[in-house]
Amino acid sequence: MIVVMKVGTPTAEVDRVSEEFRSLGLEPEKIVGKHKTVLGLVGDTADMDALQLQDLSQWIESVLRVEKPYKRVSREYRHGEASEVVVSTPSGAVTFSQHHPIVVVAGPCSVENEQMIVETAQRVKAAGAKFLRGGAFKPRTSPYAFQGHGESALALLAAAKEASGLGIITEVMDAADIDVIAEVADVLQVGARNMQNFSLLKKIGAQDKPVLLKRGMSATIDEWLMAAEYILAGGNPNVILCERGIRTFDSSYARNTLDLAVIPVLRSLTHLPIMIDPSHGTGKSEYVPAMAAAAIAAGTDSLMIEVHPNPAKAMSDGPQSLTPDRFDQVMGELAVIGNAVNRWDAKPVPVLA
Ligand code: PEP
Ligand code: MN
Repeated sequence: MIVVMKVGTPTAEVDRVSEEFRSLGLEPEKIVGKHKTVLGLVGDTADMDALQLQDLSQWIESVLRVEKPYKRVSREYRHGEASEVVVSTPSGAVTFSQHHPIVVVAGPCSVENEQMIVETAQRVKAAGAKFLRGGAFKPRTSPYAFQGHGESALALLAAAKEASGLGIITEVMDAADIDVIAEVADVLQVGARNMQNFSLLKKIGAQDKPVLLKRGMSATIDEWLMAAEYILAGGNPNVILCERGIRTFDSSYARNTLDLAVIPVLRSLTHLPIMIDPSHGTGKSEYVPAMAAAAIAAGTDSLMIEVHPNPAKAMSDGPQSLTPDRFDQVMGELAVIGNAVNRWDAKPVPVLA
């Protein structure tokens, strides 16, 4: 249930009402919005009468029952307001949210060596990206495929961060690696294949770094939101949802079907920020620009684009990676749409020699 307090409710009254809810066996979670304070009630509210709860204080504006299986991620839980996931990076705080400029995340699929990751970081930064992506621990379908350099790649990401000032996003596959990854990463990525690894989600929810939760390739939107609910229920409210393409009946031309309809759907269901990954979504670099443009037009809050200095030689996902030169051009094209929707501040910056 959600309890909406009236505008101007004194803090002492919010605290008193919270105590009353606690005495009823419910855990009130206070969400202070721009205009109103809302209390999300966690616990068994099935037999409780909303009108009776409303009588607890004249400062209660309304008591709403959340019918959906997810609560903390639901749009109602924040009384319709979009949440802001603010990430600190060496170049300053970056906000992922509906009413903020689109955040571009770019970089190779895997961190291969220091030169390529540093060079890519500098190039994507110069083109306007705010985060560098790159896998150290890679989830590969085949056990014989390149698995990522693991821990040693984290040092290379640290070097790229230092050289570029970009924030770092990289994947966690095993909860045992969270601490060491969190030393360099500003956002922890949970990949599509681990979207329903509930023990990992619980551990990720119990730590402080913001989380990028990719949609499982066969996950429904409800399953995806329930996975995000695990992270919020664990105590971490900073989750970004990333659509990366789903399995459909036709993979003849594109690796996956990029489900851009999730943008308006998620907008109505959740307050969490949305990212679109057209690289994994299509699997082909030539389709990436059109889908990135469409995602901006449809209202995405963020984009993840794979960029590699030499896609033909990439150790993973070369066919879907843009070269840095192509990424420069694409960012110029995306700026037109980004500016049209008034959400573009990814201006190119000169690279320092
Ligand atoms: C990735 O981003 O490198 C990745 C493995 O993505 P996904 O989990 O979406 O397949
Ligand atoms: Mn990849």
